[in-house]
Amino acid sequence: MLQCLAYSVGHGDDGICLLARIGPHRILLDCGITDISLLTNENKQLVPADIVLCTHAHSDHAQGLLALHQAFPQLPIYASEATTKLLPLNWSKFAVSEIPDFCQPLPWHSPIELCSGLTVELFPAGHLPGATAFLLTYIAEDNRTYKLLYTGDLFLSNSRLVEGLPLGDLRGLKPDVLIIEGSYGTARYPHRRQLENHLAERIYQAITSGKSVILPTPALGLAQELLMLLRSHHYFTGRDLDIWVEEQVAQVCDLYLQLLSEFPPAVKNFAQHQPLFWDEKVRPRVLRQLPGKIPSGEKPYILIAAQDTDLSQYVMNQDNSFVVLIPETPGKISQELNFVHTETYLLTDHCDGLGTTQLIHNLRPQHIVFVHGSPSYLADLTNLEELHNRYQLHSPGNGVLVELPIGDTFIVPTLTETNYEGELTELDTEVIVSLPQSITNDSRWPIFADTGIVEVRWQGEELVMRGISQRQLLYQTGDRFISPELDCCGNCLYYRGQRCSNPTSALYGFRVTFDGYCPMFKSLHFPSTEEIE
Ligand SMILES: [Zn+2]
Ligand SMILES: [Zn+2]
Repeated sequence: MLQCLAYSVGHGDDGICLLARIGPHRILLDCGITDISLLTNENKQLVPADIVLCTHAHSDHAQGLLALHQAFPQLPIYASEATTKLLPLNWSKFAVSEIPDFCQPLPWHSPIELCSGLTVELFPAGHLPGATAFLLTYIAEDNRTYKLLYTGDLFLSNSRLVEGLPLGDLRGLKPDVLIIEGSYGTARYPHRRQLENHLAERIYQAITSGKSVILPTPALGLAQELLMLLRSHHYFTGRDLDIWVEEQVAQVCDLYLQLLSEFPPAVKNFAQHQPLFWDEKVRPRVLRQLPGKIPSGEKPYILIAAQDTDLSQYVMNQDNSFVVLIPETPGKISQELNFVHTETYLLTDHCDGLGTTQLIHNLRPQHIVFVHGSPSYLADLTNLEELHNRYQLHSPGNGVLVELPIGDTFIVPTLTETNYEGELTELDTEVIVSLPQSITNDSRWPIFADTGIVEVRWQGEELVMRGISQRQLLYQTGDRFISPELDCCGNCLYYRGQRCSNPTSALYGFRVTFDGYCPMFKSLHFPSTEEIE
């Protein structure tokens, strides 16, 4: 009844393109591939899907849509209203007026039946204005309902121009299948506001020490966030300072002006009193930098440039009156720049490991398909005990068809079972368990035997043996490595004997890792005020 064909999973520079099959319907989820021959090769007459849903306007999700529309003009393509407005940015060699209006806007939070028995509902996903999580609900002839949630790129925290995904809207949804991005793997990052402050401080330091700052950045999303940050952060408001914006970025800013109704209340309010971006009066001034016109370097300025801009037009190498700040992408090595005064900074716009697992535990799906991110980061997620104990996890490569069988109750992942016969030798001081050599042929053996230390416990009349990994060893003996301020199982009131003892937690009774997390977390070290009273 449910399948996912992973045309392209976004492991590296490739974008996202997935085909979900629900009952008789085929739904193409994003089309971020440059070459759409994957979708046309088999049979040029055959339309590759019944409908197409695009989560957001970033090229790794949208760049193939125009070619797809040209190949199959009848194929309906849908997205949120803001996304439809931003989509033309993907085909910058055409004038916006030359690109046909092929994408149909759908409203937030209104289930719409797009095919017989199949409804689609849009939820804001944070990350970028217009970014959407799609909920697909299919009612089969036997009245059984099937639900699939595809998050696209997703962020739970608020950014300057887009609010985070409202977790409350999705709590307890229990989709059969969750297709979710895992760009940041299990890594944890400080709160977005903290990262913003850190960056603002660095820029402020540079300016006050007489240096100009160049920020080469992706033109859609991060550039506008930086601009809003610089316009509204107390380090810069009222300051006699010019912020220049390169033309490629400026064009995206112009498009953003059409999205005002989508922005958070604080931004709408700001826009009532002054222009959102272009402002030559209120300090700091924001100015369009015309091509070929270099800002005069009489006093320090800030330049928001396109990612691939030629920096040598502004700054000579060894010139120490400039600082170049490059954004980092977790899971990817930052590009090396030959300029001496290049530094990197991080402004997150995807969920970190904590956010991802938090969302998953709130949704409680049967199957999880992880896409988007480096394969090792995705593997970190599928290796998380708190996830694979509880859900069926998939992390397909390109071209893989994932079958998603749905049971009425949770189906424990089936492992091919092999029995081994061993021997017990009871000595005076210890017991030796001998097992046949063939057990080491199993691919799981190296993980089991990682440290050579096992943990054994009774389970009824049976004895269960489990290998201890380096990581677990570290956490068991080195609790000091985890700060008591971190919200994690190891710091939770209900963490007993490496298990969760909180009956209200989804992880209740399960073995949890020290660094795991669930929304029912209660700090062992910092009791909440109600408990103190
Ligand atoms: Zn994105
Ligand atoms: Zn993406």
